[in-house]
Amino acid sequence: MSPAGGRGTADDPYDVIGLGFGPSNIALAIAAQEIAPDRSCLFLERSPDTRWHEGMLIDGARMQISFLKDLVSLRNLASPFTFLQYEKAKGRLEKFVNLAEFRPTRLEFQDYLRWVAAQFSGVVRYRTAVREVTPVRDDDGALSLFRVTAADTASGEIVEYHARNLVHALGGVPRVPETVTTGPTVVHSSAFLSTIPKTFTDHERDWEFVVAGDGQSAGEIAYYLLDRYRNAGVHLVLPGYSLRATDNNPFANEQFFEANADDFQARDEANRRDYAGSLRTTNYGVVEEGFLDELYRLVYADEVRGRTRFVVHDGSRLTRAEDDGAGVRIGVDSRFGRGSSELRADGLVLATGYRRELDPAMYGDVLPYLRTDAAGRPVVSREHRVCTTGELACGLYVQGFAEATHGLGDTLLSLLPFRSKQIITAIAKDGGSLARTFSPAQDDTATLLELIERCGSGTLVSAGPGEFPSATRLPLVLDRGRGRHGVLFGQLDRADPRLAALTGGKVLAVFRPDVTRAGTPASIDVRGGLRLVTDQDRCPGGAVGLEIEIEALSADRTESERQS
Ligand code: NAP
Repeated sequence: MSPAGGRGTADDPYDVIGLGFGPSNIALAIAAQEIAPDRSCLFLERSPDTRWHEGMLIDGARMQISFLKDLVSLRNLASPFTFLQYEKAKGRLEKFVNLAEFRPTRLEFQDYLRWVAAQFSGVVRYRTAVREVTPVRDDDGALSLFRVTAADTASGEIVEYHARNLVHALGGVPRVPETVTTGPTVVHSSAFLSTIPKTFTDHERDWEFVVAGDGQSAGEIAYYLLDRYRNAGVHLVLPGYSLRATDNNPFANEQFFEANADDFQARDEANRRDYAGSLRTTNYGVVEEGFLDELYRLVYADEVRGRTRFVVHDGSRLTRAEDDGAGVRIGVDSRFGRGSSELRADGLVLATGYRRELDPAMYGDVLPYLRTDAAGRPVVSREHRVCTTGELACGLYVQGFAEATHGLGDTLLSLLPFRSKQIITAIAKDGGSLARTFSPAQDDTATLLELIERCGSGTLVSAGPGEFPSATRLPLVLDRGRGRHGVLFGQLDRADPRLAALTGGKVLAVFRPDVTRAGTPASIDVRGGLRLVTDQDRCPGGAVGLEIEIEALSADRTESERQS
């Protein structure tokens, strides 16, 4: 991945600009480095450094998934950016193992994100808030580039960058009812820690707090308020009958597998809606079961002391709220026949979740070119590219904005390693700053694989850590039955000194098909992960097998096409 440097003009655009540098685009940066290192990338991030839901980074709050669902492990266990590599780099690996804990604290996970992000600092512009995205016409009249206008949050200076592809990963927007104005006493959960402790500094007073919502945020905030303000009352306004536990049984959890995301997408729209509805309690409006028990214990301890500080308003929704100077007046509608009522409180927290949409102020010039579904949502391809009218030729990819078609995992961490691979592979396949290749009619994976199958031998190029690249020409067989594209298999003598440079990591195999045949590319590049196979059955005679899982394919055009 090329460093940011001084590029980004319309004449020298980036291959990829990532909007936001949270978990989704940090995972993309890793995938870009590991899968398509020749693509130029830049990431724009509003914060001064990597921050992850800071407003909810409550002391002791835990991840709801295993550390193995980090940014990369499930795609590439050998990556230097795994959570375990982080533990090792921090000198805590043995202690972490000793903890026997699958779910680290959110604080530690943020530190992991920061550790990874720091290794990509050369391709990130922090304190850079994206304002506008505009398609730009090239000399042929095609809209082949995006111009991104952004403001330096410190100086206000406006900067502009151009790119062939954008990857939008700016996250959700707090869901705040229109009738509510936020301020020091009325906050969304995303601003909880940055506001409430500063407004309510006296921890002994008998404050009255209202929390609206029934998800993990509502649970954690209710616990925090009861625990840190020992004399405060907490009213929970929730739409259902009671708080509910997250359904994280292992069968339901399989929906967050890579293959099940594919399966979800293949269903028709009505079926997808039904399926997502029935699995809603795996994520939304639910609280982790063990945490619910802790909350109940806290509430029970109060009962033992003879006081009730926690009041649940079930079947209720907050409808409005305003701070009239003497406190917050909160409108509540009950669906269990209690009608409308008003609560008065010192502070209100809206743990009401997030909505995800492309901001019309940012994308006003782009929206007319996007294909939308009946509900007005952008239609998103399997590779997470927004489908556009033919006129818009540059790629807009979205991370976390396609839950309706890609399933409940779309907004979660679980699928990041796979999604980032899909996006970067699609971008690499689509071409970029390197000379674009091959005529479009033949530019498909099946054709390239057929050509490779006929080649018989290829040249492997590999560079071990700190080594000069080494090139090895050897017979390579394509086994298409394994891997997404297939696996290349070749053999080397166990004593061959080149083995050291080839061991592990990434390799490039270059095939030269018969260029005398019209329309055949001059060469085909195969990028992939290499594994050594020592199995005697597969590698007779003291040989070592080289197994290369194909991750990306591209072709260079013939000399005659190049000249024409
Ligand atoms: P959420 O799960 O979307 O829950 C928000 C709830 O608020 C919904 O059930 C919603 O009900 C309800 N709501 C909306 N408007 C309301 C109103 N006016 N009055 C009363 N209730 C209202 O949001 P979240 O709890 O912030 O969680 C979001 C994501 O972050 C989840 O994936 C969660 O697991 C994650 N999270 C993780 C942690 C952690 O890892 N420790 C901590 C916090 C959050 P309707 O949908 O019916 O409107």
